[in-house]
Amino acid sequence: MMHLKAAIQRLIRRKMSKAKRAKQPRNLYPDPIRRLPADHQAAARSLTNHEYCKSLKYKAQSLKTSWEGVHPDILDFHKAFQKELLQRGYPFYAFFFWRSHELQDELYRQGSTKARGGQSPHNYGCAVDEVHCYKFWDLTRKQWAVLGAIGKEVARRKGIKIVWGGDWKFYDPVHFQLADWKRYKADIDRLDIEVTTQNLTALRWYFSACDRAQREKKPLPDHPFE
Ligand SMILES: [Zn+2]
Repeated sequence: MMHLKAAIQRLIRRKMSKAKRAKQPRNLYPDPIRRLPADHQAAARSLTNHEYCKSLKYKAQSLKTSWEGVHPDILDFHKAFQKELLQRGYPFYAFFFWRSHELQDELYRQGSTKARGGQSPHNYGCAVDEVHCYKFWDLTRKQWAVLGAIGKEVARRKGIKIVWGGDWKFYDPVHFQLADWKRYKADIDRLDIEVTTQNLTALRWYFSACDRAQREKKPLPDHPFE
């Protein structure tokens, strides 16, 4: 008899704790904002605008920026990033991928960047600026931190090494760049290679073939542009 009573009590306890768990508010952002501090949840919620994300204006913005001269990994990253943002109803779009040395110099003169032509990963198609659709650069630090955390998590999942400009002293939270962009710059400058997605893809293939050859102590492959 005592056994039965204990068993019933256990059952009741289990049922009650299950009901308690069900009553707790569902975490609105269960994944993938792993690196997001708890006090950023309000900032995350404040970015939500599902209505805007369904609008034609959003669609138009998302197709506005040319994909010309973009590194395939940046494009992959951008697409996965946008998908993730869209699911949460966060309206952002790519403001810049590639930009010419001339435009870079112009931005430098205006004081909107610290990099002259040839000093920015944008000049080599190795970066993207993700800007808010209607607040543009005008977000709070916490709101930008939400963007950064999602971006890093997307990059981790895709296995693409990305550096976020929000982690820099020269705070540039819209900016995401390939960690190894200087490797591309070195060959593009040395061999005067045109910055196209096709050429960047060839270089990516070549660099990973070089890394593999080095690991396996085999002869290096031929350079596609030499
Ligand atoms: Zn940038």
